[in-house]
Amino acid sequence: MTMAGDEKGLGRGIEATDEAAVKSPIEVSGGDGCIYLAVALDVPLPGLFDYTHGAPVAPGTRVLVSFGRRRMVGMVWAVREAPAIEAGRVKAIEAVLDDLPPMPADWMRLAEFAANYYHRPLGEVLLPILPASLRKPSAYLGPRAAGGPVRRADRRPGLARARGGDAVAESGAVVPQAVEDSNDFPAPELNAEQSAALRDLRALATSGAATGVALLHGVTGSGKTELYLRLAADALAAGRQVLLLVPEINLTPQLEQIVRGRLGQVAVMHSKLADGERLRAWLRAARGEAAILLGTRLALFAPLPRLGLIIVDEEHDTSYKQQEGLRYSARDLAVWRGHDLGVPVVLGSATPALETWRRARRGDYRHVILSRRALAQPLPEVRLIDTRRAQLEQGFTPQLLDGLAACLDRGEQSLVFLNRRGYAPVLRCASCGWVSQCPRCTAYTVLHRHAGGRHTLQCHHCGDCVAPPRACPDCGDQDIRPMGRGTQRIEEFLGERFPEARILRIDADATRRKGSAEILFSKVHAGEADILVGTQMVSKGHDYARLGLVGVLDADTMLFAQDFRAPERLFAQLMQVAGRAGRRAGGAEVLVQTDYPDQAVYQALRAHDYARFAEAALAEREELGLPPFSHQALLTAQTRHLRDALAFLGEARALAQAMPEGAGVRVYDAVPLRVLRVANVERAQLLIEADGRGALHRLLRPWLAEVHGLAQGRSVRWGIEIDPQEI
Ligand code: ADP
Ligand code: ZN
Ligand code: ZN
Repeated sequence: MTMAGDEKGLGRGIEATDEAAVKSPIEVSGGDGCIYLAVALDVPLPGLFDYTHGAPVAPGTRVLVSFGRRRMVGMVWAVREAPAIEAGRVKAIEAVLDDLPPMPADWMRLAEFAANYYHRPLGEVLLPILPASLRKPSAYLGPRAAGGPVRRADRRPGLARARGGDAVAESGAVVPQAVEDSNDFPAPELNAEQSAALRDLRALATSGAATGVALLHGVTGSGKTELYLRLAADALAAGRQVLLLVPEINLTPQLEQIVRGRLGQVAVMHSKLADGERLRAWLRAARGEAAILLGTRLALFAPLPRLGLIIVDEEHDTSYKQQEGLRYSARDLAVWRGHDLGVPVVLGSATPALETWRRARRGDYRHVILSRRALAQPLPEVRLIDTRRAQLEQGFTPQLLDGLAACLDRGEQSLVFLNRRGYAPVLRCASCGWVSQCPRCTAYTVLHRHAGGRHTLQCHHCGDCVAPPRACPDCGDQDIRPMGRGTQRIEEFLGERFPEARILRIDADATRRKGSAEILFSKVHAGEADILVGTQMVSKGHDYARLGLVGVLDADTMLFAQDFRAPERLFAQLMQVAGRAGRRAGGAEVLVQTDYPDQAVYQALRAHDYARFAEAALAEREELGLPPFSHQALLTAQTRHLRDALAFLGEARALAQAMPEGAGVRVYDAVPLRVLRVANVERAQLLIEADGRGALHRLLRPWLAEVHGLAQGRSVRWGIEIDPQEI
């Protein structure tokens, strides 16, 4: 097992249920003729809940139960001989939801592993990872009748029609997929490097689980996608299903088209789908009808009865990490799932996460390299423009403005990258220095411009949105001005500077409405834009045909961020955005404006030298004992007043230090978060670190039970995050 690294089997030995009391449903019937079911419910309480039923129910079956005064959909985890509470107090389940067969065993194992590894109650994993319609009691209840809601047999989302036509059989029958050859999407002949890489990757499938994971490390434009398609076609031909995970789908409509065109039978799953759409995609995957499941991180949890290959594209991308609820890494769980099933896993990236890179270097993962662009185009030339001595115009150096003008003359597209949306990051009074701040958060409010020229001040933390004041609230002066710049202001400036250019902005604001990202990208690809202005969102846009220049503004702001992963992210982001340039034609340029051209990150970028960057960064991490050389968890606390959060974490820290399991685990001081207050809630965190993953988890299990007790009777919200990505 690669994910648990040094300590194999982590999370396996720790049972959520009392193993001795659990038997298979067939053998069991309680002494009093009742069957006791251990049911997982999506409630923030540890453990399982006992219910009775007159007949055995297979684990993985969903049931309708009453819990307190609510009705809930739960999932049967196990059958018990005796209940954990007094038999007389055990309620009967209200209904067995038989619109779906029980969840398959491998799916249950995956959920159990996630619950154990991320230290969440089983019910808070098993239920939330199902499509909403399958876990909402209202989906199964008719109108309120005299005796309360009644179950309606005709309301059974799990029987939803998967795609027009007939309701589908529940067998999940194995149907090898015929791959249609489409003339619109001809497969190119592989170049020599790709062919060698494909041979290596194919060997994964036959070499057994020990080396079942590969890092496909290929520079931008090296044709990784083509290899995914070939591997997927192999799996399909063998009658297997493929899980293809991508960071974002709406930003890469081309990928979906190509996968559909080349492989057919695709189900797509991402968080922007309506409940019904997501359910249908999930059902097609679960019934084995969709040969390919293309999706974002949540697709990792789809049942796939014939799964034969998992691909994680841009495996380093931070969007694989869920930032709320179950804070899982879909990349890490993909590796676990592949290992569990003995199915190969391919992790693709131009800038692998340092964790992944280290595993590949150590031989835990097969390291497959594509060092050249597929179409033999050179990588773009990266130039660092020293801004310390430059005369800036709205943040642009003369070199960058000249570059944009030259691109326009040549009829090529260019891209201006700035990782800050909105018009300006803050509004400021020229006479007294007042700046616009959110009353509920420790954050400035960002000026946004709307259609028609109207402005608002928005808080990017709590979403609060107000009209800007006409005069300074402190001194009454009317001279209040936007300070700094975001993508909207850049768009405005470029419009004035290059009136003949067609300018297109791509950021979270411009793509908020459903379908708007697709429209924007189709304009880009149809050549209907000369200059693109965008945030990191543009770097994920799959392929730009005629991009001759990329300009990067204000990159330095990320260089000195407090998080130890900041340089890694900056490097990945700049490599990614630089990699958009010159994919179809040579001579492309990337201009990075910086005050610190000598920084290692920029020097490595200039040389397109990921390995140099990675080795230097790893050496530094090793010296400081940071991941991947150690393993971390973060306990966070939220309270009305910071002092309460700090006090809670301080007590939690003392508990950890007093536990025998705490030996060898470093528990740091509790500290306030950088953005201390969000929506009037103040937040602090406690970092826990150990050299070995096993040592960390051995402490976490008993300690979190104590922390749970500590929180009783206090108004504190707390949470634990394993392998935190932002500290
Ligand atoms: P990556 O995902 O590695 O950044 P892509 O898979 O997007 O790169 O490939 C870059 C471009 O090269 C795409 O337009 C793709 O269609 C093309 N391409 C890939 N392999 C070949 C090949 N063997 N022959 C011709 N074109 C190729
Ligand atoms: Zn003022
Ligand atoms: Zn706010």
